[in-house]
Order: sequence, then C-alpha cells, then structure tokens
Amino acid sequence: MTALNLINVTLNYPDGEGTMTALDAVNLSVHPGQFVSLVGPSGSGKSSLLAVAATLIKPTSGLVMIDGVDSTALTEKELATLRRDKVGIIFQQPNLLASLTAAEQLVITDHLRGTSLRTARVRAAELLELVGLGGSAQKRPHQLSGGQRQRVNIARALMAQPKVLLVDEPTAALDHDRSESIVRLLRDVCDEFNVATIMVTHDTEFVPLTDAVASMRDGVLTAPVPALPGVGVH
Ligand code: ADP
Ligand code: MG
Repeated sequence: MTALNLINVTLNYPDGEGTMTALDAVNLSVHPGQFVSLVGPSGSGKSSLLAVAATLIKPTSGLVMIDGVDSTALTEKELATLRRDKVGIIFQQPNLLASLTAAEQLVITDHLRGTSLRTARVRAAELLELVGLGGSAQKRPHQLSGGQRQRVNIARALMAQPKVLLVDEPTAALDHDRSESIVRLLRDVCDEFNVATIMVTHDTEFVPLTDAVASMRDGVLTAPVPALPGVGVH
C-alpha cells in the first residue's frame, strides 16, 4: 500500500477578485521507505504540496490518502488525530521551545498525545541517540548548533512513528557539510523507520541520496523519476 497518495489534487488560493492555482491536478504516490525529492522554482507550489499532504490545508478538489485513509473526508477532529499519529513535519526552522532541553522537546510532544512520561522519556533518549545527540539531551536550543537543532527537530517528528514524513528545505539555513549530514540522516531515518518521505530542496547536489525526484512548476508536478547519481535535475 502507498503511504501517501495525492490524487488529482488542485488547490486554489483567493487572489484579488479571482483565484490563483497553487496546485494543478497533482498526482503523487509515495511508498513506505521511499524518499522523494521535490524541486522547483520559488513560488511553484512546493510548500503548498507539503501543506496539503500534511492535511494542514484541504485541497479545493482531489483526494489526499494517508496510510489508506482519505483525509479529505474527515472532520477537523479526526484530521488532527490522523496528523498527530501518522504525519511527521519538519520545516526549515526547527521551532524549538527556548526553555526546554532537547529531551524535553520530544517528551512534551509525545506526552501531549497520551503517551506516558516514562515511555516518552525512553523513546526520546533512543531517538536523540539515533540522530547523534545522545550526549546533548540536556542541552537547550541556545546551547546547540543549527545542525544540532535540526536534528532535534527530526527526532521530534519521529516520536509518533509517522507513516509520512514531510520535510521543507531542511538545509536552507545550514552550511554544505551540515546540509549533507542532515540529508544523510533523513535517508537513514527513511530506511530505518520505513517512512514515506518527501523533501523539498534547493540543494540538487543531495538529490542522488534520495530515491526519486519530482519537479514542480506553476503548480504542475512532473512524475517522479529515479534520482540517479550524476543525473541533473534542472
Ligand atoms: P514554493 O514553496 O514552491 O515557493 P508555495 O507553495 O509557497 O511555493 O507558493 C505557491 C504559490 O501560492 C505562490 O504564488 C504563493 O504566492 C501562493 N501562496 C502560497 N501560500 C498562499 C496563501 N496562504 N494565500 C495565497 N497565496 C498563497
Ligand atoms: Mg516553499
């Protein structure tokens, strides 16, 4: 089964007297463990696609299937539950809470969804270890580098063991080496957790670390093609 399936998804935003089409009959399937890069010029609709896939925005028409469930047929409450349990979201800015330690950022998120504190703490420690921050669990955001903060963000998104991971320009604020290690970490996460992953990226250099690349232009998505080493994507 595909973990994420967008079927003929169109999204119109109000624009003055009329509307503008941010997503134009988009079709996309991502399987468990598949890592898809999404490239395209600024304003082409990449973030809109992630927001629709995350069920944060309901499309004007079309279906958004998450783990076999048509999210467009759900109530707001059901959607919130689906999103909480099945969807991990990682944006460019980690949005960590300044007063909390790395471990607490993860524990709070999980505890809010009903996990016991004890279980959440064990899981947080495991995930921080996995993202290479085992020794930094008690540090607060200002004591971490940009790359480390993004690692906390990734670990936090994995607390719910999501089926779908949506990542919007995770390396835009990082230098080359840190960017590469973040994309490599996402590759490992995708494999280890068997999560369907879409990453919006400007760094086409890292596309070969992913399985497939789809490109967006004026709201139209090309079908994903294999992301072979050395193959340009422009
Ligand atoms: P990208 O992530 O590729 O830069 P976006 O999805 O952010 O593209 O934007 C696609 C288009 O939709 C752009 O023209 C943008 O101005 C427009 N847009 C994005 N969000 C909104 C919104 N909330 N309201 C109206 N227009 C929007
Ligand atoms: Mg964007």
